[in-house]
Formats: sequence, C-alpha cells, structure tokens
Amino acid sequence: MLNFKDKDLCVEQVKFIDIAKKYGTSVYVYSQNKIIENFEKYKRALPVNKGMICFACKTNSNFSILKLLSNLGAGADTTSGGEIFRCLRANFVPSKIVYAGVGKTFQEIEYALKSKIFMFNVESFEELEAINKIAQKLKVKARISFRINPYVDPDTHSYIVTGKKGTKFGIPYEDAISAYLLAKKKKNIIISGIHSHIGSQILEVAPFKLAAQKIKKIVEQVEKQGINIEYINCGGGLGIEYKNNQKVPLVKNLMSEIFSVFDKDKKFIFEPGRSIVGAAGYLLTKVIYRKKSGEKSFLITDAGMNDLIRPTLYGAYHDIIPIKKTLAKKVKSDVVGPVCESGDFLGRDRMLPILPQGEHLVVKCAGAYGAAMSSSYNSRPLLAEVLVSKNKTFLIRKRASYNDLVTNEC
Ligand SMILES: *Cc1c(COP(=O)(O)O)cnc(C)c1O
Repeated sequence: MLNFKDKDLCVEQVKFIDIAKKYGTSVYVYSQNKIIENFEKYKRALPVNKGMICFACKTNSNFSILKLLSNLGAGADTTSGGEIFRCLRANFVPSKIVYAGVGKTFQEIEYALKSKIFMFNVESFEELEAINKIAQKLKVKARISFRINPYVDPDTHSYIVTGKKGTKFGIPYEDAISAYLLAKKKKNIIISGIHSHIGSQILEVAPFKLAAQKIKKIVEQVEKQGINIEYINCGGGLGIEYKNNQKVPLVKNLMSEIFSVFDKDKKFIFEPGRSIVGAAGYLLTKVIYRKKSGEKSFLITDAGMNDLIRPTLYGAYHDIIPIKKTLAKKVKSDVVGPVCESGDFLGRDRMLPILPQGEHLVVKCAGAYGAAMSSSYNSRPLLAEVLVSKNKTFLIRKRASYNDLVTNEC
C-alpha cells in the first residue's frame, strides 16, 4: 500500500508527512485496506462451513483493528482474559473465540466460561483438571482441544519456535492419546478438536505440512477410541516479507496442503496474526539528531525500543526508509532511539541517505508485535495509532500523556 505522490511517500492515498504534521511523531500507522486484503486471502481459501479464521489478537489488539476484523467475520485467538475482554468489546461473537496459553489462571478460566467462548486450547493435564472443576462449579460444559506439541522445528528465531521438543508449549506428542482418554472421562468437558501451533515467521509450507501429518496420526488413534475430533486447529505462524527478497508461501497453497492431509469431513481453524496485520503497519518516526562516533553515523529517532522491541528482542530486521525521495549520498547508519540502553536500536548498518535534521523515517512491517509489545520504559508515553483508509485518517489510539504514566500509582 506504499506509493509515492511526487516526492512524498504515501500509505494508501495519504502522505506520511501529513500524518506526522497532524498527529505528531512517533506514531503507528496502519493501512485498513491492506488488513482487509490480507484477511480476505484466508477467508477465500476456507470454504464456508469448513471452519473459521481466528485472528491472533496478541499481534495487535487495538479496538478499531479488532472491530474491523470482527466485522469481516473473523473469529479471535486469545491468550489471556484481557484479550477475551478486548475481543468481546470489539464485537467478536463468543462462539468464534478460542483461548490458548500455558498459564491460564483460575480467574481467567472462569471468565472465559462465563463469556461462553467457543473452545479452550488446553496445554497441560493440570489445566484440564482446573477447567473441568471450574466448569462443574458453574454448571456448564467446557469445549476443548488439546494443544499438541508435534515436535516440528521450523527455521525461525528460537524465541518464536513453539512446536519443538523441549518448549513449554502444549502437551508432549507422546502424551497426546492419554490426554484425550483422560478428558473423555471428565463430566464437564466436551472434546471438540486438536490444536498445534509450531512457531512464528515461518516462510515454508513444509513444517506446517509435517505438523499436520503428525497431528493426523494422533487424530486417527484418538478416533479409534471412539472420540470424535471435529476441528483441526492449525495455529498461525505464516511469515511476512520483512526483507525485500524474502519469499512467502501463498495462503491458499498453505491451506490446501493442510486440507489434503485430513479427511473431507473435518473442519479447520486457522489462527493467523502476523500475516494479517504485520505488513499493514508502519512506525513513522522523526530524526531528532544526527551524530558521528568514529566511523559510525547515527540517526537518533524519537522512536525507541520501548515503542518497537522486535529488533532488540529478536534481532529482527525491519526495513527503514525515508518518507521523501532524495538524491542525497547514502552512508552506513545506525538508526537508534533515545532509550538508555545500548540495545536500543531500530536498525544497524543501513545504507541511508544523509538526511536533514527533523526528516522522517518509516519502519516497515511494524503492524504485528509492534504497538502490542510496546511499553512505557524510560517513562515514555505509549504512542498514538492512526488508521488510514484511502484518503482518510482516523486516530484509533490517543497518544498517552504524562498523567497516564502515573494514573495507577498510589
Ligand atoms: C502467537 C500465536 C498465533 C499467531 O502467530 P503468528 O505468527 O502471528 O501468525 C497463533 N496461535 C497461537 C496459539 C499463538 O500463540
């Protein structure tokens, strides 16, 4: 959705410079039509009545973005009571909310049951006991899937691998059958599906297919025991093009490969997050100062690691580009923030034009795990967020104030 109008970089039909003038910097900017386009790819690939697309709302839980997706018919994949609350508030129907996480508290389980969510993705035997007990107390039945760890090791950052042996996630593969047999005996549990989520930013179909094949083996064995598995939940994890030359599998190819593994009567749940909002978001920031230290050139921006932590946390690469076309000479530069940590950088060793002080940069692919992971570290107020649709801009989160920093302190 990026394009140039004369020399100015635009998102949809709006110049970034106009967004900076109107809303200040730094600011998160999202393209509404890019989000819609990304979601529709999933929706088109899954026939109606064959299941649902549950947006992984931990990637971006802004009310307006959730509302946009719920209006398009999305379900929600949640990881906490707080996320369930946000999703209900944004009009997701409870019957399309699924809930994963290794550490659901008793209060969260109770809240989820009272909210009548569709299904729990259960990650341990003790969690199953807890859900059964709380459901009994509330006189309701809890619909569950087990999240199974299929022991597939996708080629991605170790912090975002989840389906490998030895991670904290899911039920170990060899315990899957006994988990289902135990659940079958629980009076307040309805077994409804099976779940796996092997990791994030995965750029090949093969690990997804391998996980599906391993899950299929469990399904066959479980069904031999008279337990019906209606839903196959394949999780999320499809990557996006952070670097220009990265190849990303097509959603429809990924999904048809998975469909081909299972029987025709199965229903599916997919939980995409990053691939819906990641490439639709930008962090717009201003160069406050420039300086040199030895051979190094630094561009010091008003966005830091508290606003976008992915470079620091995962060594993640985000493309950074000026918002004005220029013929200025390019020099190798580090783009760094104002936070008092040497790990506070947005990009290192980038060939960037020599920019005047006060010029702006856009950090691309910042729509997922960007604002959602931001904090007020160094007492820096949370950023404003702006949604762009065609030639219109909408403020979807106000910039926090200094007072907001201290509201809950006593
Ligand atoms: C994080 C997460 C997702 C979304 O992963 P993406 O890589 O953002 O698509 C889906 N399901 C579960 C259980 C998750 O924890």
